[in-house]
Amino acid sequence: MLDQTAESFWDVIVIGGGPAGYFAAIRCAELANQSGTPFKVLIIERARRSLGKVIISGGERCNVTHACFDPARLVTYYPRGGAALRGPFSRFQPRDTVNWFEQRGVQLKTEPDGRMFPVTDTSTTIANCLEEAGRRAGVVVWNQASLLDIEHSPELDEQGARFLVRLRRDALEREQVLAAHSVLFATGSEAFCQGLIRRFGHNIEPPVPSLFTFKITDPRIIDLAGLAVSETSLRLEKADFSEKAPIPTQNGPLLITHWGLSGPAALKLSAWGARWLFEHDYQAGLVVNWLPPLSVDKVMEDLRKYRDIPGNNRKKPGAHPVFEKIPIRLWKRLTEAAGIDELQNWADVSKLNMRRLAEELTCGRYQIEAKGIFKDEFVTCGGVNLDEVNFKTMQSRLVPGLFFAGEVLDIDGLTGGFNFQNAWTTGWLAGAGMTEPINQRV
Ligand SMILES: Cc1cc2nc3c(=O)[nH]c(=O)nc-3n(C[C@H](O)[C@H](O)[C@H](O)COP(=O)(O)OP(=O)(O)OC[C@H]3O[C@@H](n4cnc5c(N)ncnc54)[C@H](O)[C@@H]3O)c2cc1C
Repeated sequence: MLDQTAESFWDVIVIGGGPAGYFAAIRCAELANQSGTPFKVLIIERARRSLGKVIISGGERCNVTHACFDPARLVTYYPRGGAALRGPFSRFQPRDTVNWFEQRGVQLKTEPDGRMFPVTDTSTTIANCLEEAGRRAGVVVWNQASLLDIEHSPELDEQGARFLVRLRRDALEREQVLAAHSVLFATGSEAFCQGLIRRFGHNIEPPVPSLFTFKITDPRIIDLAGLAVSETSLRLEKADFSEKAPIPTQNGPLLITHWGLSGPAALKLSAWGARWLFEHDYQAGLVVNWLPPLSVDKVMEDLRKYRDIPGNNRKKPGAHPVFEKIPIRLWKRLTEAAGIDELQNWADVSKLNMRRLAEELTCGRYQIEAKGIFKDEFVTCGGVNLDEVNFKTMQSRLVPGLFFAGEVLDIDGLTGGFNFQNAWTTGWLAGAGMTEPINQRV
């Protein structure tokens, strides 16, 4: 049995007032209210302000979700956790997120690339909506309250408690011990809490950053910051041989920055390759196809055809991009890298140099030197092992009454609203899962 006396009893204590914790607490309290059962739900949040990441998210506009309404397709945006989310997305998916916010007075809009934001274009709309919904449902929130320790008993005490939660509340300038029937960890990637979760016997996949840009210093792209190519294809050299976690080639726009390469294609590749790149200390060869789906041979053929058009053989290769989508300054650099002299005409370009240009265009190799920053979104891969969680209720398979939601799990998505969708979906399920005692009381 639990060997300390608690100051108060709570049906549910949610650790972490981020989006997953809020969503779970609101769902739980709303369901309890609907059933007319008194049910005490508490969020403890370490920070002075809850929902800190919501507020800074998406360049302070909050990319709430993504306009992808097919669960089977939605899961393909999660380098880790997609398979586990297949069932949960059939219960709560982006369409439900849109409805949830709409029912509480917040309209979302869709941008051309599928990202969804509040029509106000400000993240405080989302944070205020969650806080207001929590208040209305009767959720109690304690800020500047940090979890210090947690103890579990397999038996319920006379109040129905099976957890003792020790926390530090700055407002009281002291520690407190609370009793709870269920506890939800919605603590994101916080290492201290991962340690406590491990003590319950759970395995934690080691945390590793995801969603970053690539630091590359290379004469082909130096001083070209701001140039973008609308459709490229990127792969990590030698990284696609692992059968366990293959790193698929990624397509999409690529942006040259002061630091190296960024844009959707680079960010997606960073997410899929997050663990592999970490293990390789962010030193890797990046192979860029600036003209997908064209191959070296097809580009060779196109270059030859271009050269053979009457009049072209007297043109300077570096001055006239053969492929419209390549900006002229980048094209010039690629011709130089292929060894084509700026004074040469097409007629004088050797077969070897033409081949090298075709290679530069379709499989140029760039050396990644380090992990760069992407300020609009950041996520950690790793977390609670998914096999140890029941994805119908988000309850631990090892410890009854212990629940998980959000980034604390070994789930992470690509940039575009997928990480919040994971928080909404798993929070929503956990919220319902934690009302199980109500069903037993009825
Ligand atoms: C700059 C930035 C921008 C982002 N933009 C987007 C975006 O636009 N769209 C998107 O989908 N995703 C975005 N993300 C990712 C998204 O914010 C996270 O995936 C999401 O916040 C995870 O939610 P969570 O509730 O699981 O965890 P968190 O948001 O990390 O919340 C966990 C909470 O637990 C609290 N906590 C931790 N330890 C304790 C403790 N011991 N005691 C009490 N409380 C504790 C923390 O203070 C925190 O408030 C962004 C991330 C960053 C960093």
